[in-house]
Amino acid sequence: MDSYIDKQYLASRHLKDADTFYVNINFEVLNGCKWACRGCHVNREIQQGIGGEYTEKFVNLLNDFEQNKYKPFIAFIAPTDFLVANNTVEFLNDDATVEILNKFHRLSLQTTYLDVDSPRVDAIVDVLNARYKNMELEINIVIEPAQILNEKYLDVLAHNKASLERRLTSFNHIRTFGIFNVFDYSATKIAETLQNYDLLHHKIQHLFDTTIDYNFSLGRKDDLPGEEFEKTVLSISELFDDAISGEKVKFLRFSFGKLTDSLIEKQYNYRMGEFFASPLLYERFVSFREELKIPINKWTASEFEQWEHNLQLTQYSNVGDKDECGSCHYLGSCIDRGVLHLMDAYGIKRCVVARDALDAINFKRSKLESNER
Ligand code: SF4
Repeated sequence: MDSYIDKQYLASRHLKDADTFYVNINFEVLNGCKWACRGCHVNREIQQGIGGEYTEKFVNLLNDFEQNKYKPFIAFIAPTDFLVANNTVEFLNDDATVEILNKFHRLSLQTTYLDVDSPRVDAIVDVLNARYKNMELEINIVIEPAQILNEKYLDVLAHNKASLERRLTSFNHIRTFGIFNVFDYSATKIAETLQNYDLLHHKIQHLFDTTIDYNFSLGRKDDLPGEEFEKTVLSISELFDDAISGEKVKFLRFSFGKLTDSLIEKQYNYRMGEFFASPLLYERFVSFREELKIPINKWTASEFEQWEHNLQLTQYSNVGDKDECGSCHYLGSCIDRGVLHLMDAYGIKRCVVARDALDAINFKRSKLESNER
């Protein structure tokens, strides 16, 4: 077994042990969803699988990554609830898909956990047990933020999660994170609660042994206005700045605060034969805007590296038009994570990062062990 599989849960956690780069790909391939989660901007109809002419290209690309010291690490399967999407079985059971996804270490799926009893779910369980048993499995929960105080709702999630995991007999330990769609929480009846990250974290962690990931689903809106993106992302910055300071820092796991993450872990979004940048702003960002498209022709690792290099230079050359970046000690990290690329795509000049939270994690006295961040 490869040593990295023994050592790593989050690839980025052990920079000092890393003897390779990691590459994650978000596959935008599932269609159909019967739910209407707030803050969801997913296009539920237009996705395609990865068969046809792209099969060989994908296999060659992943082989090329491996020959150039990259390990395919996480394959995210998106964008809809995999238990209710209408093409999950067809996608996961396709021979080309099985070959491609099994090159990764971990398969990551997401669900609302609102429906686990249907013939479709039985078929999905069978495919996962039979064809993905050599992979690590992660099933993330898309949580409805406005229901976070609803004990009945949380009980249903816990019950259905346990039920599904019992049937996934090929997997020893299934990892789980809680996903919150980001939207204007002030429009909910529990706006104050939703600004209290500390409370939310404890509530979810107790039930699901997880942390909260904020999902900027609105990035999938092709015509998202810059002002709307800026307003939303600043509200999350305030939330983290408020929650992570002084003594409170010890209660939270704030993975974005670990500045070295993106140095060894690369992530890209794939949809219908095209790749897109996935900037790391709190979480990996998904958008299919033209500005984020990665222009590759030969599907080689060196093309991605050249694109990364060019993008760094472009971001540095555009620092002058930002309000504060030019004199900020996080500039190198933000450029490495593609934050300024995202700001350019949406025409934003103001800082979009929770810098007080980053300062608390990185410079103030913290009770967090380095491997807990
Ligand atoms: S986005 Fe904010 S944290 Fe990042 S370099 Fe600019 S001012 Fe600094």
